[in-house]
Amino acid sequence: MKYILLDRDGTIIEDKHYLHDPDGVELCLNAAEGLKAMQDAGYGLIVVTNQSGIGRGYYAEKDMHAVNERMSELLAEHGVEFKAVYFCPHAPDQECDCRKPAPGMFDQAIAEFDMDPEDCYVIGDKLCDVELGILCKAKSILVRTGKGAKEESKCVDKADYIADDLLGAANFIKKNK
Ligand SMILES: [Zn+2]
Repeated sequence: MKYILLDRDGTIIEDKHYLHDPDGVELCLNAAEGLKAMQDAGYGLIVVTNQSGIGRGYYAEKDMHAVNERMSELLAEHGVEFKAVYFCPHAPDQECDCRKPAPGMFDQAIAEFDMDPEDCYVIGDKLCDVELGILCKAKSILVRTGKGAKEESKCVDKADYIADDLLGAANFIKKNK
């Protein structure tokens, strides 16, 4: 199976700055449609999210799980299901090997799933997502949702593609399979 590794905040759900209340979860524009199209095209979907709010003491790990569950619930209504959700709970000064663009979460996915990185995509709204893709020899797509429009100038020479949202990303992936 081929896989797509997706950022959470600003890519799948609206970036609300250290969101930790499941009632605040809102899907980004065209996120459900885009994810469904990726899944229908034969890709397994995996979430890779930096959650430094945990390491900074802003919220607890269980709060993040509640947000993830709400996100999964909203997407299940559209027939979308994640194979796994990986998170980095560390603050930047903890110098871990899993905070994107460090490859820890990608390595975890490789260990758990039978994947060839060259068949995989990393999609997110930040330079660190694009850099994760490059570092792991996968393809990378920046979406303009969340912080993506602001990050675009930094990513334009690095990302394989820049899409308005996840549906645009799905259309690119389907064309380039
Ligand atoms: Zn980490």
